[in-house]
Amino acid sequence: MTELPPLRDVIAAHGLSASKALGQNFLLDTQLLDRIAAVPGDLTDETVYEVGPGPGGLTRALLARGANVVAVERDRRCLAALQQVSDHFDGRLTVIEGDALRVDEAQVTGGAAHIVANLPYNVGSALLVRWLTEERWPPRWKSATLMFQKEVAERIVAKPGSAAFGRLSVLAQWRSDASIALNVHRSAFVPPPKVMSAVVHIVPRSAPPDVKGPVIEQVTQAAFGQRRKMLRQSLKSVPRALDALESLGIDPTRRAETLAVDDFVAIAREIGP
Ligand code: SAM
Repeated sequence: MTELPPLRDVIAAHGLSASKALGQNFLLDTQLLDRIAAVPGDLTDETVYEVGPGPGGLTRALLARGANVVAVERDRRCLAALQQVSDHFDGRLTVIEGDALRVDEAQVTGGAAHIVANLPYNVGSALLVRWLTEERWPPRWKSATLMFQKEVAERIVAKPGSAAFGRLSVLAQWRSDASIALNVHRSAFVPPPKVMSAVVHIVPRSAPPDVKGPVIEQVTQAAFGQRRKMLRQSLKSVPRALDALESLGIDPTRRAETLAVDDFVAIAREIGP
């Protein structure tokens, strides 16, 4: 089996100078990478879908834990380095060159998979919303372990009443469990970004009955789109929403951020399909 060179040497050998446009901030600390790869639990013979493997640090850690990895990378400069990783791990890594926003992960992984990614920040939120709003639930992804800017991570796991509680919190929590698995200091990245980061772990659970995803999306969008306004104002545009508040006994002068996740579920159920 060929030995893999240290990540710093890979970056130098393949000329992987970090591209700002591609959101490239690489992780080279193997201990930290292994801690991230440990977040989803036992990966022996599991399939992992990785977005943006870059020089392959996180990819190596996932493969070392026994996973089969399907990775999508947009930067073709990384492909030769990733091929070396694939060879080293007996072909358990498949790399797809492309834009993750255009890839159907269920199709390329061929079934249930854990998602793990140190995402480019600009792409991260868009992908997360897509995964959280899938119609089929539980979805095909078994868990998602994702690096975000700390501020975004805090919004995902925020509890009602806090300033960070918003649309992303409800979407992430109404039929999933979301937690911060670890905080990552900016100095861990090469080059270091301006802000701190955190790894979020999201595990889907069964959805509450009789609630349609698109309705909850519509309600949260309206409610948090005007988060300083009272619900009677912000939910006016959503058919049957004000009647739902009344029949549930929710005071329409409250603001969205004071409602519990279960209140949003109840409102969506009351509105109906
Ligand atoms: N996973 C590596 C690590 O931890 O060191 C790299 C992380 S870096 C923050 C983000 C990676 O995502 C880069 O390799 C970048 O080229 C890639 N990338 C950026 N936009 C992408 C997209 N739309 N689809 C797939 N990969 C993308």
